[in-house]
Amino acid sequence: MSEKDKVGVEEEATEISRRGFVKLLGGSTAAALVGAVPVQPVNASPSAPSEGAEQIYQCKPDLKRFSEKDIAFKKVSEDLGAPWMQLWFKNMLANVKESKIGKNVPVKSPKEARAHVALWMGASTWNRVAGPYGEGLENKGLLSWKPMNVPPMFRGNPDPDPDPADFTKKIKQIARFVGANRVGIAQLNRKWVYDETCRNPYAPDAPQTKKIVFKDVKETDETDTELIIPETVKYAVVTVAEMNRIATQIGPTSVQSSVATNMGYARIGIIDIALAEAIRTFGYNAIPTMNNTALSIPLAIDAGLGQLGRHGLLITPDFGAAVRIGKVLTDMPLVPDGPIDLGVTKFCESCTKCAENCPAKCITFGERTYNAPVDTSNSGALKWFTDGRKCLRLWVESGASCVNCQAVCTYTKGSFWGHGFVRGVTNSAPQLNSFWAHMDDFFGYGQMRDPDIVWNMKMSPFGMDPRKEI
Ligand code: SF4
Ligand code: SF4
Repeated sequence: MSEKDKVGVEEEATEISRRGFVKLLGGSTAAALVGAVPVQPVNASPSAPSEGAEQIYQCKPDLKRFSEKDIAFKKVSEDLGAPWMQLWFKNMLANVKESKIGKNVPVKSPKEARAHVALWMGASTWNRVAGPYGEGLENKGLLSWKPMNVPPMFRGNPDPDPDPADFTKKIKQIARFVGANRVGIAQLNRKWVYDETCRNPYAPDAPQTKKIVFKDVKETDETDTELIIPETVKYAVVTVAEMNRIATQIGPTSVQSSVATNMGYARIGIIDIALAEAIRTFGYNAIPTMNNTALSIPLAIDAGLGQLGRHGLLITPDFGAAVRIGKVLTDMPLVPDGPIDLGVTKFCESCTKCAENCPAKCITFGERTYNAPVDTSNSGALKWFTDGRKCLRLWVESGASCVNCQAVCTYTKGSFWGHGFVRGVTNSAPQLNSFWAHMDDFFGYGQMRDPDIVWNMKMSPFGMDPRKEI
């Protein structure tokens, strides 16, 4: 491993870059502007929640609810005639014998490759405690829609005089306690709730579906044909968990990309389950979801946690695109947050870095559109679409996951203050956006890391960046 790959050393290099950067921009003028990050609420009034993501996306009135049977994991398993993960894992083990941890990611020996798989096994096992990933697992196991350990005296017995502002403050604080990096409240737009679940999302056989419906009932319920959500469920508590940014940069496809992903999902699963039990203790319904029940990204946008990028992922102010998202749907009276405008849409119009660096060529260089060019996405929202099939096929062939679009995204950075500055000026001087994307390369962000860095880097528990507030 080269010395520059060590996180501690990177800090020093960043300081040098910082001085160079200030000099480049004219010293004190640039320094004075640092820290100005105009995160603009699209609608700051909690009493009048906007249409949220719909407002940012511009949706057609006939936008339909998505079916979980159309997720890329299901489609690719159908295409291949076998569970995608089974083939992916077989190729991962074949890579070990060839001293590789991804498609073009060599390590010194099979022994070293085995150590990387050992780290992956730890992260993957942690993920399996709650989910894994949550797909098709509505109301299953720890993702139960019913109280598990809540004392009977509290179940279905809320305070007769609820205070939404006080509830909101306490629920956000509980979310942070149980592990969320950031939390926001979305007014639940039912267009983002799946039309139906798919109980066999990774299997090649015919989809086993069950409708997700809203009914005038007091409690969540499940029958042979339906998952039932009470009409009173009007909010989503949305959380994000930061991924290990350094591990995302080992690749493009690598076992370590999968470690970063698995740890993100592991944390999100635990957060969702813990938060749901806390909400039920206040006497309300709570539906922990991970990747099931509803689309995470539009709900996160509604909750004011970020915006949608060209790569089809959430871009957050603090962690860029290197996050995983969880959400708990509830009828607890809460005060919704409004969407924020970081200037992402304008920035992505002139930055195509993720598309240039996508090894499967599944991110568009073109304009936003209402029409999904692939059957793994829904038409009707104005956005950049990605080809989920091509993306997942690459994972399977490589025997390793890819998160390169998250790793190279201009918004995915360490705590270097210059990026706060860059985010600030991208809103006020969008004509410079292309320049900032190239500055990003100048600072060395988004370059592939030596796999050995995972054995030497400094980190906080759960592989978090030690230089950032958790
Ligand atoms: S879209 Fe898929 S293949 Fe392309 S960079 Fe992102 S994760 Fe990798
Ligand atoms: S890499 Fe550039 S174009 Fe892609 S999502 Fe990030 S900012 Fe947008």
